Amino acid sequence: MRISLIIVRRLGTHGNHKMSRVQRTVGFGGRMFLDGPEWLTYCKRKPVRYIRTSKAAVCQVCGLPGSSENPLQNAHIIGFDVGVIDLGMTPDFLDSEKNIVTAHRRTCNKQSELDLKGSMGRLRNLGVKELPRYLQAAIQEAWGAAVEPCPARERGAM
Ligand SMILES: [Zn+2]
Repeated sequence: MRISLIIVRRLGTHGNHKMSRVQRTVGFGGRMFLDGPEWLTYCKRKPVRYIRTSKAAVCQVCGLPGSSENPLQNAHIIGFDVGVIDLGMTPDFLDSEKNIVTAHRRTCNKQSELDLKGSMGRLRNLGVKELPRYLQAAIQEAWGAAVEPCPARERGAM
């Protein structure tokens, strides 16, 4: 593994790090992305998933209520494998309501989780312009290649 750490060196200790107030502060100051050292740690051992969002009344994929044989459950839109390992995202963001959908456990749940390409598209729709530089070259290339932002959201908030 050849991962350059030079670029992730902090400029100072604590005070310089600008905190986003857009999201609720948990353990990552509302950040959407991990810093280099955090990411390396999670590559060794993935973080625990912890969804706090309450479930919707009906499936957000097909619009029908749950049943005893196919109950509704909350699922990640960008999953932890893609989100944390491939894209360097914080577990806080992945577990936040922006990334949770209520879906039937069978069928609909599978449809709701995005693959890498779909996840990149979603990040663009959320206003992300660039990925952390510590990510692998292949990811950076895929990100560059996946440039087709949703026109309505291209200038969206972030
Ligand atoms: Zn459904």
